[in-house]
Amino acid sequence: MSRDRQLCQTYPFAGQIRPVAGLAARSVSSGIAWLCAIGFAASATTTSVAGESPQPLAVTEVASGVFVHQGQTGLFTPRNSGDISNCSFVIGKEAVAVIDTCGSYKLGERLLAAIRARTQLPVRYVINTHMHPDHVFGNAAFEAEKPRFTGHKKLARALAARADRYLAANKDLLGPEAFEGTRIIAPDLAVEDKAELDLGERSLVLVARPTAHTDNDLTVLDKETGTLFAGDLLFSVHVPALDGSIRGWLAVLDKLAAEPAARVVPGHGPASMPWPQALEPQKRYLSRVAGEVRAAIKAGRTLADTAKTAGESERGSWQLFDEFNARNVSAAFAELEWE
Ligand SMILES: [Zn+2]
Repeated sequence: MSRDRQLCQTYPFAGQIRPVAGLAARSVSSGIAWLCAIGFAASATTTSVAGESPQPLAVTEVASGVFVHQGQTGLFTPRNSGDISNCSFVIGKEAVAVIDTCGSYKLGERLLAAIRARTQLPVRYVINTHMHPDHVFGNAAFEAEKPRFTGHKKLARALAARADRYLAANKDLLGPEAFEGTRIIAPDLAVEDKAELDLGERSLVLVARPTAHTDNDLTVLDKETGTLFAGDLLFSVHVPALDGSIRGWLAVLDKLAAEPAARVVPGHGPASMPWPQALEPQKRYLSRVAGEVRAAIKAGRTLADTAKTAGESERGSWQLFDEFNARNVSAAFAELEWE
């Protein structure tokens, strides 16, 4: 019996991952069979939308076999092609896992080219840490690899609800050339609570978190090197962006800080940061926003008035403050006025 076939028959999914609603025909067990039928074929060489070979994205090996592309700090523009978030891959003995696919099809192709510059092993999993376009828009570039697209149990629903808006808005922001080929690929493997994925003598532990940055945040831990991929549960340099629950986010940060890791890869910021110290600036920012919004509500101030002042003491510590702070304050106000 081949090693791959043995792996197929002992794959450690049971009870932890469920198929996404609407894709029930591919049950967890048949999904494994399907994976095994196709998943170990040699990967096709990559060809870009325009036909030429994509330029591999620059990546840093932050730990043995763990590669991170560091996105720029900014919003989607034609100039950055949506290259504004960190996207990563981990190479095991038998397969590769991608963790976030960058902000466009073309960037996804370039991430795949960076993988192919290092290994010809199949891409077995494409994991999305959450729903935001800069983390999922490169997914379609991996379709030919036939990976399991993997995410939080709430990711598929969140993407379905926002797909049209995301595609239209980001096509406008990127322009037709940078946007070309971009489609949304929903997950076909949903993490209910916790799951362990095997890459061959290397496993990743995925944890579906309660509502924090969004309602579908997923963390990934590479057990071999202790590298934690926090997705947008951790921002650095780029001011945090609240699209879930400020109370939930602060609670998740406390829980995360108690979990051991050797380093963390944030969703935005450096390719690798010290753990758990990397959490501190963001915890301070969110705590200040929550505290000042609570005080404003207690004093009977309006949302519009509060949005002009809350969090202002953090202005000098972050980039993109004007783009996100007032929005964060508004979201926090709407949440906290019902406490
Ligand atoms: Zn995000």
